[in-house]
Amino acid sequence: MRVRFWGTRGSIPVGLTVADVRDKLARALVAASGKRFDSYGDAYAFAEQNLPFSVSHTFGGHTSCVELDTAHDEYFVCDMGSGARAFGEHVLARQSGKPATINIFMSHVHWDHIMGFPFFGPAYVPGMRIRIHGSHDILEKAFRMQQSAPCFPVAFDHLGATIEFRKLTPGQPTEVSGLKVTTQLQRHSGDSYGYRFEHDGRSVVYTTDSEHKLGDRADRDRAAAFFRDADLVIFDAMYSLAEAISVKEDWGHSSNVMGVELCQAARAKHLVLFHHEPANNDAAIEGALRDARRLEELTRGEQTLQVSAAHDGLEIDL
Ligand SMILES: [Zn+2]
Ligand SMILES: [Zn+2]
Repeated sequence: MRVRFWGTRGSIPVGLTVADVRDKLARALVAASGKRFDSYGDAYAFAEQNLPFSVSHTFGGHTSCVELDTAHDEYFVCDMGSGARAFGEHVLARQSGKPATINIFMSHVHWDHIMGFPFFGPAYVPGMRIRIHGSHDILEKAFRMQQSAPCFPVAFDHLGATIEFRKLTPGQPTEVSGLKVTTQLQRHSGDSYGYRFEHDGRSVVYTTDSEHKLGDRADRDRAAAFFRDADLVIFDAMYSLAEAISVKEDWGHSSNVMGVELCQAARAKHLVLFHHEPANNDAAIEGALRDARRLEELTRGEQTLQVSAAHDGLEIDL
């Protein structure tokens, strides 16, 4: 199974500013001073291999959209944040005119998780089949409202694809075209649901927009049971621990520190920090990643937990 991250930012998309680009260019030039590159390829390889991540890359970018590629004919994707536009282009290019079935799994319907759907190309193509899965009763209403006048020029009913909504019962595993899917209720304004996907002996947990209270033993045990032995946990690490337990308590999000603790308790193998705070620049997100890795080292038991920070374009093979 391959996991592709099309959108990884929380709340609202964030673009690099001119100042950000100049800063990256200046730092790259300093790192490359005295070196000679005979071709674009040589320079590209240097940028890829030798520059720090925060100089050569940027963390998303687009809001939540994560694809699970199981090598099945059908597509599987979590959330329709603004990353859905790029994901849609990928689907259309790969299909080259042929119809497809796309399974969308919705964590919840806050705007940052549905805003990409009106720009999701396959939704406009007759012959495409789109199944929107979720545990909220208001799922369909939210998608329709978003495309209602005067907020968007194309009404939901005018989309070309065949679109259906499927309700998932929390805690009850369901099979969706060869993928085992289980949802679990999470603490978040208006409720959100985490997903556990299992396929071919591999498991991925997608748990975004979920607040975990420090010291809430029952919540910790419940989360650890849901994440149990997962190969990959995509985790809402919007805040630092200090923010999550003080000014931003009850804002419905979690932290890098909580991610490490819960994944260790669950003996998960790989934690990916996700749904980055829009106010944080690349250096701040890299700092949160460094802190999480340091904590993992200091508290490591028998099993190593790999820790990464998601960025648009990241691909992880399981
Ligand atoms: Zn969100
Ligand atoms: Zn939310």
